Amino acid sequence: MDKVQSVRGTYDLYGAAKRKMKKVVYTGAEVVEKYGFEEIETPIFEFTEVFARNLGDTSDIVTKEMYCFEDKGGESLTLRPEGTAGVVRAFVSNGMQQNLPIKFYYSGPMFRYERPQKGRQRQFTQFGVELLGVDTPQADIEVIAMAYEFLEKLGLSGQVTVEINSLGDEESRNSYRTKLVEYLQEHYDELSEDSKNRLLKNPLRILDSKEECDKAVVENAPLYADSLNTTSQKFFADVLRGLDNLGIKYRVNNRLVRGLDYYSHTVFELTTDKLGAQGTVLAGGRYNGLVSQMGGGDIAGIGWACGVERLSMLLEEDVNLPRPIAVIPVGEDTNDKALEIAHQLRLAGFRVEHSYTGNMKKRMIKANKANAIQAVIIGSDELLNDTVTLKNLDSGEQKTVSQVNLIKELQ
Ligand code: ATP
Ligand code: MG
Repeated sequence: MDKVQSVRGTYDLYGAAKRKMKKVVYTGAEVVEKYGFEEIETPIFEFTEVFARNLGDTSDIVTKEMYCFEDKGGESLTLRPEGTAGVVRAFVSNGMQQNLPIKFYYSGPMFRYERPQKGRQRQFTQFGVELLGVDTPQADIEVIAMAYEFLEKLGLSGQVTVEINSLGDEESRNSYRTKLVEYLQEHYDELSEDSKNRLLKNPLRILDSKEECDKAVVENAPLYADSLNTTSQKFFADVLRGLDNLGIKYRVNNRLVRGLDYYSHTVFELTTDKLGAQGTVLAGGRYNGLVSQMGGGDIAGIGWACGVERLSMLLEEDVNLPRPIAVIPVGEDTNDKALEIAHQLRLAGFRVEHSYTGNMKKRMIKANKANAIQAVIIGSDELLNDTVTLKNLDSGEQKTVSQVNLIKELQ
């Protein structure tokens, strides 16, 4: 450890990048709270089982990407790679089954051992929602509408496509799986090694493969839509009709399966072509089997998560903070007064930049750099007369204002 640098795939976030991420999370919270979602914070690590058993033992996350470690007590723990398993674990551990539906949102760091590239980190941030206890299409519609409104509020809806598919219920999945395996076996030699291994364990996963050779085979695979039973078809049609009613545009993508085992019925992704191969900014779906898999009873669930870094990379403009007022003391003996005035202004709700050192000229440069809107200058004359000089930094105009009237003047 002789290098002073962060671990590969991790970043220090500050300045414009951090401001944008904060805006993404705040906007998300504001939107989903209108739909009755409340924030939950679960631990950043869980027993390894929580993820290993529930995300599927052939998923990329479980096979390659998890940060697992043994703690000093010999427990196998894992830094959370995603949010849903932890939230459902919390739902079950805290016996929340009595108060359905449950609507939670969360945000925070996730960890995956992946090859770092633009929009793909080893520590990244997700903002996500989970709705537990509703098994009707209305929940799917509302949850997708909420995602759409979120991106709209960020000014990104024009750059993003809603892609949607249905995996159907268990019966449909099984019937599709049979057809798919049959097809893939005919193309066995063309598949990647990973996919050969998955062929019997989890063939659906092959549809989600990022390997070029797999993609070529998948191109002509049987379509999911042809395997949906009547119930699943109706469910999907209801979801699409609901989206139509709300004016939400989408594209049915028959190849969309999502990488985790727990999905059923509706799956969706919001994608952009602006981030290269990392084009999925938000993804989710229905997970009706997950709660019971964790021993929490037969309770339906649906949710989504977005990549906060990916979304903030799409925000072109820096986030505008309110412009500050600069308080500028001229001469040693005015320091106390300047600090007192800065304090009063802050209590009155203004953002105040109070420069600590330097002559008047240096401090004016700093004030302009901070994009201050007005400078409040206090020299010895002002000190004597209980006034300040108020300078508009845009127009250059300046005037003398008595200290008691300063706040009123600035408002
Ligand atoms: P991808 O196909 O890009 O690997 P994924 O299917 O693994 O994505 P999810 O598990 O659905 O991703 O996570 C939801 C969202 O979180 C993604 O759509 C993406 O925006 C973001 N995300 C996932 N992995 C990373 C990562 N390593 N770095 C940054 N953002 C990520
Ligand atoms: Mg991934």
